[in-house]
Amino acid sequence: ASSSPQIAKLFEKELKQRGLSDQIQVLQTGCFGFCEKGPIVEIHPDKILYLEVSTNDVSEIIEEHFIQGKLVERLLFTDPNTEKRIASDLPFYHSQLRIALRNCSYIAPEDIREYIAADGYQALSKVLFEMNPDLVIDVLKKSGLRGRGGGGFPTGLKWELTHKSKADQRYIICNADEGDPGAFMDRSILEGDPHSVLEAMLIAGATIGSSQGFIYIRAEYPLAIHRLEIAIKQAREYGLLGKGILGSDFCFDVEIKYGAGAFVCGEETALIHSIEGTRGEPSVKPPFPAQKGLWGKPTCVNNVETLANIPPIILKGADWYAGIGTEKSKGTKVFALAGKVNNVGLVEVPMGTTLRQIIFEIGGGIKHHKAFKAAQTGGPSGGCIPTQYLDTPIDYESLIAIGSMMGSGGLIVMDESDCMVNIAKFFLEFTVDESCGRCTACRVGTKRLHEILSKITEGKGTLDDLDQLEKLGKIIKDTSLCGLGQSAPNPILSTIEYFRDEYLAHIVDKT
Ligand code: SF4
Repeated sequence: ASSSPQIAKLFEKELKQRGLSDQIQVLQTGCFGFCEKGPIVEIHPDKILYLEVSTNDVSEIIEEHFIQGKLVERLLFTDPNTEKRIASDLPFYHSQLRIALRNCSYIAPEDIREYIAADGYQALSKVLFEMNPDLVIDVLKKSGLRGRGGGGFPTGLKWELTHKSKADQRYIICNADEGDPGAFMDRSILEGDPHSVLEAMLIAGATIGSSQGFIYIRAEYPLAIHRLEIAIKQAREYGLLGKGILGSDFCFDVEIKYGAGAFVCGEETALIHSIEGTRGEPSVKPPFPAQKGLWGKPTCVNNVETLANIPPIILKGADWYAGIGTEKSKGTKVFALAGKVNNVGLVEVPMGTTLRQIIFEIGGGIKHHKAFKAAQTGGPSGGCIPTQYLDTPIDYESLIAIGSMMGSGGLIVMDESDCMVNIAKFFLEFTVDESCGRCTACRVGTKRLHEILSKITEGKGTLDDLDQLEKLGKIIKDTSLCGLGQSAPNPILSTIEYFRDEYLAHIVDKT
């Protein structure tokens, strides 16, 4: 993005020309999260962050910073209160706690030695030589880790159910089919720290009793795929994949499978069908994948962010992780902060952080000093949360209670100029397109919702239409087979609840 690779190449070239390349190393990292101020160049060990760097700034940074020993003032962020200039002083990073993103922007993801130097593969070693499967499952259950892909199912329990299912083979699947528009949490983790996901899959394999893992990733993520391929190759070279891992009798390997961009393939049973080579449609549960999954064998499907949390939990313990977050939602959550907010980017905060903290402290408030109107969490089928809930601590339960959901972590901010009826229609268009068509409520129902909504936005709607929207939305939620249909009406139902006056304005103004 924004010429980062060219900037890195220029640094390498100029450092070489000036005879400094043996003293100063240029490393390409994953995402810093602070998209609004990219490209970012961080100088170690001083931890000086230069923001919005362009190819034109490279010579100046080398001349002033490295040769003259001065800071390049115009590229620095300076906290107006403390005058401090290191990364942790930026308000964007102040309230963040990076566990899943711990290595993103910190290590060079294409070099396994960097991951190992950051305690990488120590958790695997601990699991193989100091723990047994029951103990690992117990640690995960006590940690309170829940699935970060949207469902929020307890991870330890999922592992236990798969472990207990009798079979000659079990499978581990990493779900990297991140499909929410605007969401890039999983992509960033895979681009910035692919070994953390591989290590967690190995731990899952050793615990559940599996020798084969699959990473199901969107084909539209070429850099993430490239770095995963490098990570898998290096892990094999280091004896971390294949037979007799780290000298133990544990064997495990990983294969990458490519998704073709269907949103519904993020649903675990649809994803399993897609890997099997059949049509990517959800199936009725039970049986759950933990009992009968890929090729009929017990299968544990975990999302990328969920997996990235596992090595630190094994190393630091369940109590450490359970001490972060709220009573029922432990640990942190990564959000892709987008829309009408000053600091768009990727943020990781403890569960229980309020929307106000995320949008106004980390996000730096609303663009162009406009007023906040709503925030949509949970991707295209999440609800729109109004101003009165800005101080609600965010966790799985609280978001559902106010008509939205955690989803995978998309967070889109809207300001006073946004029309909430148009916003609801925009999100519904996505789910209409992505409905797989298996069940009538979703396939036909979302189209009917869209027709009624279009009528209203064109000024031809009536109060009866508004009632129909609500009734039909509730029926679709209750009768759809999978999460896509069950949550598709959320943007409509939440905007009717919190912004009914805007629907009435479309109707009343024209009648
Ligand atoms: Fe397919 Fe929609 Fe039914 Fe899910 S709810 S199975 S996406 S038709």
